[in-house]
Amino acid sequence: MSETRFLQVQNLVSHKKLAKRRTGKKSKTPKITYATLTITPKDDEAYDHAVEKVRAQLGTHYSMLINGEKWNSTGEEYTHASPVNTNTLVSYFPKGSRDDAKAAIDAARDAFHDWSSKRYNERVRILRRAAEIILQRRFDLAALMAFEVGKNRAESLAEVNESVELIRYYCEQMETNNGFVKSLEPPGPRQETVSILRPYGVWAVVGPWNFPLALSTGMSAGALVAGNTVVYKPSSESPVLGYEMSQAFQDAGIPRGVFNLVTGPGGTVGVELQENRHVDGFVFTGSKDVGMRLYRQFSTEYPKPIITEMGGKNPAIVCETADLDQAAEGVMRAAFGFGGQKCSACSRVYVHKNVKEKYISLLKEYTQKFVKTGDPTRKETFLGPLINRAAIDTYSKAAEEARKDGGRMVLGGHVLAAGEYANGNFVEPAIVDGLPSSHRLFRDELFVPFLVAAEIQSFEQGMELANESEYGLCAGIYTKNRGEMGTFFDQIQGGVTYANRRAGATTGAWPGVNSFGGWKGSGSSGKSGLGPYYVQQFMREQSRWIVKR
Ligand code: NAD
Repeated sequence: MSETRFLQVQNLVSHKKLAKRRTGKKSKTPKITYATLTITPKDDEAYDHAVEKVRAQLGTHYSMLINGEKWNSTGEEYTHASPVNTNTLVSYFPKGSRDDAKAAIDAARDAFHDWSSKRYNERVRILRRAAEIILQRRFDLAALMAFEVGKNRAESLAEVNESVELIRYYCEQMETNNGFVKSLEPPGPRQETVSILRPYGVWAVVGPWNFPLALSTGMSAGALVAGNTVVYKPSSESPVLGYEMSQAFQDAGIPRGVFNLVTGPGGTVGVELQENRHVDGFVFTGSKDVGMRLYRQFSTEYPKPIITEMGGKNPAIVCETADLDQAAEGVMRAAFGFGGQKCSACSRVYVHKNVKEKYISLLKEYTQKFVKTGDPTRKETFLGPLINRAAIDTYSKAAEEARKDGGRMVLGGHVLAAGEYANGNFVEPAIVDGLPSSHRLFRDELFVPFLVAAEIQSFEQGMELANESEYGLCAGIYTKNRGEMGTFFDQIQGGVTYANRRAGATTGAWPGVNSFGGWKGSGSSGKSGLGPYYVQQFMREQSRWIVKR
């Protein structure tokens, strides 16, 4: 990478300046991002208050929202237990049927003409109002996130803010591109040609549980601002946040049928969204298994757009010249932030032989010092619970396998089940050294706080191992050598890349600052969320040639 290009990359505008540019005034959004995670005493007070308020509401019976109405046709429900204390039921939601999904698709079809015919600034106005509503409700939403998926206070507040910024950023993309209408070169006198991007129709939006608000909000806002209507299905592990987002759109004045919420199993509601010929586009974030299935099966009669953002097995390379403190903190944050339950989590680290011993002991020290496990609503907690029993099993199996295959447990490897952990899904953060780098624990996405480390003989070997993966989402490097850094950026197979980042080796993307999308088995479109090419994917080009009389 040339020196000028390197400086351009380094010279990112500050979050503050960016927010000002986005809203035309100093942003009222609190400055809690995944990088800063800074909480003021006032935030703490408001959050603690919200926790008590939300605690009193746990166990509510919710409904779907179709055509602007509450909807529960079958009367059947499913429940979701809190991972913090599995004796606490967070919610009851309707077990939607294929007919419910059909009704939502029909409502979205009926609403499409009016919504897509509106001037784009009218859609922007409604969506910006939804962003304001989410911002006003941020403490309640963050507290709900702790009970529903176990996210800690700083990360959940950051996620709510990210959702707000995502809506604003995608609105801004419509504005700065004038609704994506571009005059082309006139072909002759009194003739005019125009390129115009137009929405497709009805989009299915299907989200994962681990960023239950931000990812669903981002995908929905992208589809909506472009002029599409939406049928949205949240994960059954996080329907309350999905409901709250839908409610915010409704409260912002989105017209009936433009946004519809259906809940229930992938096998009924999900399959209807996938097979119904009136669904014109599909945007999905989740695992590679489900994403690839949808990708293969969605188009039958003719090609239809499908955006699938999927998993990751994200590597960090620690070179001989690395600042080891920076590298230890960066990997610790990326490996154990939200318990490794992020698609961007760092789950394998390759360390140069000359610094390996010192690095591993620093990594252990940082993890022991910072990663406090416990109730995610508590201020001091870094690591909350895992989402469910299946995740606990994945963790236990990985630890057992590592021990059996000659790995050295540098830290952790045990499920926590005594005292305050007794009723929740708690585990220790795990670091394993000494397994061969061909071991499956270097390949498979586990989605739990489990980091494997391997020694490398050279930077080149680190690159080779980092790229040896079906995934291509995030990657990080720690080095003071400009040549290595340049080669890393040029040759690493990943959509989201970082050098020398203490706040997270592979994590921390933010709308308009650091776009986020996967290559290879991590994503289908090659265009990232949170970035400048996202909204266009929800539109198709129409080229117009007008001969004037
Ligand atoms: P998942 O694939 O199990 O589920 C995702 C969503 O798909 C859920 O809403 C689920 O109900 C739905 N679904 C399941 N089967 C379906 C079907 N047949 N038809 C339609 N929908 C169906 O993933 P998850 O456990 O919710 O999330 C974790 C995964 O998501 C991890 O692999 C993680 O890496 C990935 N993820 C990726 C990104 C990214 O931006 N690349 C972000 C967050 C999470």
